[in-house]
Amino acid sequence: MVKDTTTLTFYGGVNEIGGNKILLHDRGTRVFFDFGMSYAMKKQFYSPPFLAPKSERSLQELGILPKIEGVYKFDPAPPTVDAVFLSHGHLDHSAYLSFIKREVPVYCGETTRTILQALSEVRRADLEFSVADINFRTFRTGKKIRVGSLEVEPFHVDHSVPGAYGFVIHTSNGAIVYTGDFRDHGAKPDMTREFIENAKKAEPVAVITEATNMTGASVSSEREVESKLHNIVAQAEGIVLAEFAYSDVDRLNSFFHIAKKTGRCMAVSLKQAYLLEALRKDKGLTVPDLNDEAVRVFRKSKKRFDKWERELLHRYDGKNKVFDVFEASKQQCRMVLALSFYDFEELVALQPAAGSCFVLSASEPFNEEMEIDYERLVNWLSHYGLPQYHVHVSGHIMPLPLKKALNEMNAKKVFPVHTDKAELFARFMRDLKGGVTLVEKCREYTL
Ligand SMILES: [Zn+2]
Ligand SMILES: [Zn+2]
Repeated sequence: MVKDTTTLTFYGGVNEIGGNKILLHDRGTRVFFDFGMSYAMKKQFYSPPFLAPKSERSLQELGILPKIEGVYKFDPAPPTVDAVFLSHGHLDHSAYLSFIKREVPVYCGETTRTILQALSEVRRADLEFSVADINFRTFRTGKKIRVGSLEVEPFHVDHSVPGAYGFVIHTSNGAIVYTGDFRDHGAKPDMTREFIENAKKAEPVAVITEATNMTGASVSSEREVESKLHNIVAQAEGIVLAEFAYSDVDRLNSFFHIAKKTGRCMAVSLKQAYLLEALRKDKGLTVPDLNDEAVRVFRKSKKRFDKWERELLHRYDGKNKVFDVFEASKQQCRMVLALSFYDFEELVALQPAAGSCFVLSASEPFNEEMEIDYERLVNWLSHYGLPQYHVHVSGHIMPLPLKKALNEMNAKKVFPVHTDKAELFARFMRDLKGGVTLVEKCREYTL
């Protein structure tokens, strides 16, 4: 049935941080913007690995995967959706591609595809994340993509993962802007500026905006983070252990620069090394070179390595690149070691020297890739006498610059998503020219 109206339906990202799944319907063309996993909803029922969903039926039963006809590969009905556009590679925006019918094209940035493919190679195949046989079509910033009655223009934005985009979508009833996840205080604020300028130029009828940081907002920047980290690493007497999201390339760059300046090496995990190899091929990105002698690769103590790990180890065999915990233990004052909380068993063999410290350089618990179990973390740190520094800057824009950006875009309607503080957002933004719509999940909004 052809409809002349343009509608938006939000199947995820409503009253929660992440899980965005936004359906745009315009004259019979149906396109999803993001198709992420909802960490918050999953957490209400599951506690992996012992209590984990076994099938898509469980996820649908509990409302974690929305019931939508003709979208999923386990549904024999013909496809009812023309394309999926991904704003970026964080799993709260992309993981549930796993369930999408493989004939449906998935548009994303080159870098997003690289990240998702690298991630699928380093993780064991699992129900909720697989990009096998996905029909990826990649775009670059400013390219125009036509899908049915829609024309979609992606513009790069700054976020805590490379290859993030916002969209200007031209529909039969005016332009819609979708911010994805973005910020103006990261390593590349100019990209966000460019997106805002283009969004403004399109005179949008509606803006779908992230509104993550409505509480706990702060004023800082990636540059400031780098200078704080420098201060810590320069004073540390023993090893510096650092926890940060493995796909946060800006943060890795910050640690890498500091390690170099302080005469240390930056030691990354096999997983991060694998991603770096893949991202090095992307000429538009600045990432540490694995061949640089200040970058080393930490091999965890374990008996069995997966194929990709064995191959990676083989590539750097004999190059004085890979080392284990026993070597790390002997060179503590010359090392910044990226070590996740889930790898703290390594501390038993490492035996951190006096004057070592732990830097937590992440937050946003469910939002991105990790959720830290604070109580246990503190017990480990206390056992080994490791003080904890928290140095981080969010991947998401702060309330005041967000308000300014929305004022500039001057849309008739504003839909906040990716937030659990939508009402606060609406009150804070109550003098915007366009009204703020408090979104209800699965309800259809006509533009
Ligand atoms: Zn997100
Ligand atoms: Zn994100």
